[in-house]
Amino acid sequence: MIKINNIKKKYGKNEVLKGIDLNIKKGEIVAILGPSGSGKSTLLRCINLLEEPNDGEIIFNNQNILDKKCDINQVRQNIGMVFQNFNLFPNMTILENIILAPIKVKNIDKEKAIDDALVLLDRVGLLEKQNAYPAQLSGGQKQRIAIARALAMKPDVMLFDEPTSALDPEMVKEVLDVMKELANEGMTMAVVTHEIGFAKEVANKVIFMDEGYVLEEGSPQIIFNNPKNVRTKQFLDKVL
Ligand code: ADP
Ligand code: MG
Repeated sequence: MIKINNIKKKYGKNEVLKGIDLNIKKGEIVAILGPSGSGKSTLLRCINLLEEPNDGEIIFNNQNILDKKCDINQVRQNIGMVFQNFNLFPNMTILENIILAPIKVKNIDKEKAIDDALVLLDRVGLLEKQNAYPAQLSGGQKQRIAIARALAMKPDVMLFDEPTSALDPEMVKEVLDVMKELANEGMTMAVVTHEIGFAKEVANKVIFMDEGYVLEEGSPQIIFNNPKNVRTKQFLDKVL
């Protein structure tokens, strides 16, 4: 579904992605690990074109999305993104947060958008919060809404950037449970996370990034039980 070839990204002189290759197949769950500053967020932001890579190719559904002829908005509609800090619109209700993009970007009828949103709210267990505002929700609830909002666009792939890192420990599970369910339903996902348990249980593939490179890639069994790279080992010793 996504084929990333030799992506490079610089901020000024600082090259933060130094030639990344990564394939994400349909239905695959890829966990992205690595120390802070290694380029994980930048990689996700390049995939949905929040950042423009300086070099390389990103093929998404057989189309080079870095091609100038490619419709960026069309691409973004098909890639859902969930951030560490939720990024909900504070002045809108939960329901309004969810229906906004389907109505504005996809021209879905309001009635239909509401029907779909209620199904999603039920799925993340927050139907009763439809008229609440983000500030009235816990962190875990906000993140479940952020996931529902991304799903409302019916994306082909979901990108998660440390979705549980800003949460109090007791709220991590409710968010991971929603993500697990999504994975079980066949959603294609790339997840930057420090939740090793989640990566072990759910990921088909784990990549370890450091200083703008993918140092190691493999099944969770290989990466967690038998990492080849010394930096992967050092990192896992700290987080496990
Ligand atoms: P990670 O998500 O792995 O912690 P990031 O992708 O956020 O890493 O950052 C990688 C490097 O790029 C860091 O050195 C960071 O300071 C730098 N960086 C990230 N975003 C920007 C930006 N918008 N402008 C300048 N430097 C940035
Ligand atoms: Mg990051």
